[in-house]
Parts: sequence; C-alpha cells; structure tokens
Amino acid sequence: MSRLGGAIVPAVRGLLAGLIDLLLPGSCLACGSISTGRSGICDQCGVQLLHLVSLPYCPRCGSTAGPGIPVRADGCGECPSVLPRFAGVVRLGPFASPLRAVIHNLKYRRSDIMSPHLGMMLAQAIRSAWPDGNLQLVVPVPMHWLARLGRGCDHAKILARSVAKNLDLPMARLLIKVRNTSPQASLSRSARLENIKGAFRAAGASPLAGANVLLVDDVTTTGATADEAARILLAAGAGKVFLAVIAKTEPHTAYLGHFTPPVSPVAPISTGTTAQSAEPGPAGKTP
Ligand SMILES: [Zn+2]
Ligand SMILES: [Zn+2]
Repeated sequence: MSRLGGAIVPAVRGLLAGLIDLLLPGSCLACGSISTGRSGICDQCGVQLLHLVSLPYCPRCGSTAGPGIPVRADGCGECPSVLPRFAGVVRLGPFASPLRAVIHNLKYRRSDIMSPHLGMMLAQAIRSAWPDGNLQLVVPVPMHWLARLGRGCDHAKILARSVAKNLDLPMARLLIKVRNTSPQASLSRSARLENIKGAFRAAGASPLAGANVLLVDDVTTTGATADEAARILLAAGAGKVFLAVIAKTEPHTAYLGHFTPPVSPVAPISTGTTAQSAEPGPAGKTP
C-alpha cells in the first residue's frame, strides 16, 4: 500500500466511527444509560468522574488524602515503609465508578472511545503536577506476549501513546515482560514484590542515558509492579522514573469522606419535599 493509501485508510475509518457515534446513541460505559455517544459516558457519570479527579492525593504513593489532611511532597501515612523507586505518581482518581468501568472498557477493548479522553486528562494532570516538564520519554508498563494474545490488545501501550501525543513526547517500548506472572490482585504487598521480581528486562540498546522517564499503566495498587519496572529502567540508565496511572486501588473509606455532604449550620426551611443529596458520591466501591 502506498504511503498516501496508508494514511487515508485510518482517516476514513475514524470518519466512519465518528459518523456512527453521531447517528447512533450509545450506552454509557459506566452505568449503561443512553448517552450521546460522543464521549463514552453520560453526563451524570461525567460529573462523578470530575469528583474523583478533583480528590487530593499523595504524590509518592497515590493514596487519597483525607479531608483536611495536607498533601506532603515526601509522602503520607499510607506510603510503604520503603518508598518505591519511582520518584512520584500522578493519578486521575481512586479505582471507583465510573473510572473502574472506564478502565475495564479500555482493558478488554469493547471500544477504545475513552482512550483519547483518558490520555488527554492524564497529560493535563501530569502538566499540573510537574509543571517543569522535566520528562523526556514515555514508557508503557509491558504485558507478557501470552497475556496480550489472550486479551487482544495492550491497554497500557494504547494509554501511553495517547499520553505521549498529548505531552508531545516520544513513546518507546523500552521494557519487555519476560515472565507471565500470576495476577497480583489477591496478593499482599510483599508477595506482589516477590511475584513481579525479575519479570521485566530492558529492551535492546537503551536510549535512556539519564533521561527522565514517565512510566504509564492503567492501575496501581501497592506500586510493586511500577517499582520493579522502575528498578530495571534505572539500572538501564534512566535519570528518574515517574509513574502515571488512571487509578489507584484503595479501600472506599479512603475517599468516602470527601463525598459526605457538608452539614449546613442553619437548618433549611422545609418545603414539604424530600431533601436530595447535593453531591453524588461514587456509584461503586473498590474491590
Ligand atoms: Zn453513566
Ligand atoms: Zn503516600
């Protein structure tokens, strides 16, 4: 196929997808209600997403800071006793609805309608957290080839590509996962560290040479996977490694306090109608 033909085919495909979105109302990826089909989620879930994104969090481990608790650059009470090798983390929010459904959709690729939005939001969060822009390279946390074959897509790579495009940085797949590890979900932090140890290696001749790397993944829980990936990147010559994820898995009690409606100092005059909560909390809880 000619170079021109290669460029036209994706453009036509994108146009068709946009046209279908316009003509057919889709269902919200998070709650299933009818949405306009343009952004992937409905207006109500969009509002909840903004609530999650606005929560304050620890820049070292990504845990939500409780209401009134100041965020400290050197960590929080939830940080592991041995701090991870990555120098800082940016997240969009806790692993709660609607972010949870959005991530599930990205991972199992029922549709990749949200990945450009997620990449843009994550890039904005990165610019706001690290305004110096001292990043040179975006690297996705890799999947083992067998896992990628089973899933049919590499969600971290899709996300990293979108983040890199929005930050105007190159993306390079500098890590290879050489061992298909057991799922980390049910393991303690120490078991996760053991499970992931030695699972990555640097890919070929490394262009790192002191470059500050932005590692991108969908979710972090204890940070064990990103810590091991950072270990390999630093050994291969990276200057510093930073982590960007869509969500941090944490108990719902970590963020629920932010969704409790404030108590009004003056009781409202009764109008005879049932009072409604002004501020909806997340529709789901973390696993
Ligand atoms: Zn919805
Ligand atoms: Zn912390």
